[in-house]
Amino acid sequence: MNDTATTESAADVADGPSPAEEVRRLRATFATGRTKPLRWRLDQLRAIETMLTEGESAIAAALAEDLGRPANDTFLGDIAPTVAEAAFARKHLHQWVKPRRVGLPLSQFPGRAWYEYEPLGVTLVIGPWNYPVYLTIAPLVAAIAAGNCAVIKPSEHAPATATVIADLVGRYLDTDAMTVLQGGPAVTQEILAQGLDHAFFTGGTEVGKAVMAAAAPHLTPVTLELGGKCPALIASDADLDVAARRIAWTKLMNSGQTCIAPDYLLVDASVREEFLPKLANAFRELSPQGDGGRNMPIVTARHAERLAGLLGNHGGRVLLGGNATPAERKVDLTILVDPEPESPVMKEEIFGPILPVLSVESADVAMRTIGAGPKPLAAYVFSESKALQRRFRDTVSAGAVVANHAAMHVLAPELPFGGVGNSGMGTYHGKWGFETFSHRKAHLSRPTRPDLRIVYPPYNKLTQRLLRFIF
Ligand code: NAD
Repeated sequence: MNDTATTESAADVADGPSPAEEVRRLRATFATGRTKPLRWRLDQLRAIETMLTEGESAIAAALAEDLGRPANDTFLGDIAPTVAEAAFARKHLHQWVKPRRVGLPLSQFPGRAWYEYEPLGVTLVIGPWNYPVYLTIAPLVAAIAAGNCAVIKPSEHAPATATVIADLVGRYLDTDAMTVLQGGPAVTQEILAQGLDHAFFTGGTEVGKAVMAAAAPHLTPVTLELGGKCPALIASDADLDVAARRIAWTKLMNSGQTCIAPDYLLVDASVREEFLPKLANAFRELSPQGDGGRNMPIVTARHAERLAGLLGNHGGRVLLGGNATPAERKVDLTILVDPEPESPVMKEEIFGPILPVLSVESADVAMRTIGAGPKPLAAYVFSESKALQRRFRDTVSAGAVVANHAAMHVLAPELPFGGVGNSGMGTYHGKWGFETFSHRKAHLSRPTRPDLRIVYPPYNKLTQRLLRFIF
């Protein structure tokens, strides 16, 4: 892992052309109309697939350096879903771009009306460090599919990966239409100050507010993909073995530094004693060393310090793990049983390998508990009962609801991906991303004849009655 990842000031220094120069350059490209033809978009999407396939080993090495990630997790978490997103867009784009005819009211007869998707212009993708390829290049897929130019601003906390992204984009994609600018908050603010045509941000909720504030003076529309404190309900009739395995798998991925990882569990009190050993065993079985996830790598010492703080102040019982060595950027996968509901681990998004488990008297209590907090990015229900699954879907407001699994909705490009309330605004993936990066332009075309005199003033009694019928 890289030491520079911890120094904000060093990370904020960007080399090369300034954001103003780069945005001006991309604006000039956009003005030529070069990014609009379907052919250009399809070629760029294909180039993204090639770029990621041929660049996989460089990306895996960079992510091992930045996040201490095993190469296979990089394939699963960054390469495969991004390639799939580009391939899906390439396959469906000719359908998405088609103008759509709509009907007209009597007042507009004779005439034709339709809408079509117009690219927005020069757009910005601001990425986080946790899946630094997927969460910058998948939004880029949407920006390109919609025919835009794009500035990509990867996270300064995954500096080796940011450098690989810059290198790959430079070698595989149309650099007159796309650029990678590296740096931290100051660079991002400077890019936003150029007044872009859309800003697509993935990151924490508080930073999301700063991005939205910086976009506001320019009326730059924003999509905010924010943090999630994603709950999972283990109901009394859940398949406990499957629930334990699926929760352990999705929580272990990237050391729990996943926005849609289960953040905390609400376990029906009637199955709690049976479930807890299954959960601990699943972590042992699925962890790379078979030790339940000791010493999991954390992105920076500062992030590990924050997680160590959560471990030091929860008021619960440690069932597994419990240790942290922030100087080495290591934190154990830790199961905390019955932490204080008001403790920081239950109030903050954990975003690391700590899993609090609380007991609830019933599924209804669990749904009320979830409803009392900010709206999560995703909510999970493990139950064999279709009726309970339906009630959970109807009751819990979240970016997504998944039954009997966690996090997997991210891999279905037909589904809109995004948060609600505190977990964000706007969606992407597949057609939803194309829509996000497009303007829906309305068209009305009327023939000059007939040109009925009665619709123009002055109006008499008869024409007034006719107007009331027509309009
Ligand atoms: P972050 O908010 O710290 O940083 C994200 C990006 O914002 C970085 O590129 C950073 O340089 C930039 N940034 C930071 N401060 C800024 C400022 N003041 N003005 C403008 N830009 C600024 O997030 P992170 O630590 O990289 O990622 C973790 C967070 O992201 C977690 O909360 C996680 O839940 C969330 N996340 C959400 C999703 C999702 O799809 N909803 C996916 C991954 C991560």
